[in-house]
Amino acid sequence: MIAASPFTALGLRPEIVRAVVEEGYTIPTPIQEKVLSHVLAARDAIACAQTGTGKTAAFVLPLLERLAAANKPRGPIRVLILTPTRELATQIGERIAAYGRYTGARHAIVFGGVNQRRQEQALSYAPEILVACPGRLLDLMHQGIVRLNQVEHLVLDESDRMLDMGFVPDVRRICSVLPKQRQTLLFSATMPPGVASLARAMLTDPAEVTVTPPATTAPTIEQSVVFVSKADRRALLERILTDSKVLRAIIFTATKRGANRLAEQLSRAGIDSAAIHGDKSQNARDRALNAFRSGEQRVLIATDVASRGIDVDGISHVINFDLPNTPECYVHRIGRTGRAGATGEAISFCDPSERSLLTQIERLIRQRLAVNQSMPTAGLAEARTDVAPERPREQRPAHGQRPNGPSQGRPAHFQPRKRSDSRSYS
Ligand code: AMP
Repeated sequence: MIAASPFTALGLRPEIVRAVVEEGYTIPTPIQEKVLSHVLAARDAIACAQTGTGKTAAFVLPLLERLAAANKPRGPIRVLILTPTRELATQIGERIAAYGRYTGARHAIVFGGVNQRRQEQALSYAPEILVACPGRLLDLMHQGIVRLNQVEHLVLDESDRMLDMGFVPDVRRICSVLPKQRQTLLFSATMPPGVASLARAMLTDPAEVTVTPPATTAPTIEQSVVFVSKADRRALLERILTDSKVLRAIIFTATKRGANRLAEQLSRAGIDSAAIHGDKSQNARDRALNAFRSGEQRVLIATDVASRGIDVDGISHVINFDLPNTPECYVHRIGRTGRAGATGEAISFCDPSERSLLTQIERLIRQRLAVNQSMPTAGLAEARTDVAPERPREQRPAHGQRPNGPSQGRPAHFQPRKRSDSRSYS
C-alpha cells in the first residue's frame, strides 16, 4: 500500500508515506504534486495557493524528507517556518507532528501573547524545525534564546497576510541573520506588490507554482450574495442558521465589538455560538476553536485577523455578515469552506452602502456572485425601497426576493452571466 502510493512516486520515504496514508490521503493535491519536486531538488519556490489546497503538506512533507535524508546530528534549527498567527503556527505544528511521527523530527512553536517559559523549554529540546510568528521570534532572538545561524530551509507562509499585518519589516530582520546559503519557499494566497518585492529580495531564481489562478476561489465553493440591509441582516442570519443544512458555520464580522454583539444577539434568539477575536485571551480562543472543531459548537463568529489559519474540516457555510474591507480578504474568508475538494457554501450579505466593496470583490475573483435565490428574505422588510438599482432581467431574483444589482457602468468583460454559468468566467 505504501509502495504503491503516489506519494512514494513523488520521492518521499516509507516513514513519511506511512504517516500520510494514515492521515487518509490517497492522492497528492495539485499544489503538493507541483511543489514537492522543487523542494526535494533544493530549489527556491513561490507558490500561489490559498489555504484548503493542501499547501501545508506541500512544504512540510518534502522538508521532512530532506531532514531525514541529510541525517545530521540533532542540535541546531535547520527549518524555520514563519507564519502570521498563533492559530496557524499551532496548526502547522500539528501537521508536522502528524506527518513526521515516524521520522522522529522534532519541532517547536513560538508565538506571542502567552508566557514565554514553555516555549523556551521546547526550544531547549533541540528541535530541527521551528514554527514561529515573527514578533515573538525576534524577542527570543534578542534575548539570545534562539539561534538561527544553521537554518537551511526557510518557509514564509501566508505571506500576503504577513504583509497585511505589518510583519514584513520583522520578516526582513529575521532573514538578515539567516545563512545566505539556504532554500526559501514563499506561500501566498494572493500576490500583491509587497509580497512580490519580498520574494525578489528573499528568493533566488525561484520556481513559480500556481494552483488556481491568483486570487480566484475554489470551484467547490458555491458563492452567492444576498442584498439585505444592515437593519435586516441579523434576522436573516437567524433564519439561515436554523436550516439543518448548516452543519458548521463561520460568520465574519468587521469588528470585534460587532462579533461580541452578534454572539449575544444570537444567544438571545436561542442560537449558541462562540466569538473569537484579538481581544479574547489565547485560552478563550483555543477553547472556542476546539469546541468548533469537535462539533460541540456549530457556529463560530470571527474577525479576519482571528480567523487566520483556522483549519477546521467540514465547515459547510461561510457567512459574510459584513463584507470584508479588501477583496483579498474575501478570498481568504471563503477559503475556510470547500477545503480539499469538499463542497461548501459562502453567502455574503450586502447592504446598499457596501456595493462598491462587492464590485471590487467580483473584479478580483473575476466572477459575478449569483444572487442567492433560496434565501428566506420574505417578510424581513419587503416594502423597503432603499435597495440598490435593479439587476438585469436574467439575474432578477425569484418571486418573493428583493430586486437588486446594477450592471450599468461595468466594463464589458464584467457583464453578468446567466445564473447557470455565473460561477465560470472567461
Ligand atoms: P491546507 O491547505 O494545508 O490548510 O490543508 C487543508 C486540508 O487538506 C487539511 O485538513 C489537510 O489535512 C487536508 N489535506 C492536505 N493534503 C491532502 C491530501 N493529499 N488528501 C486529502 N486531504 C489533504
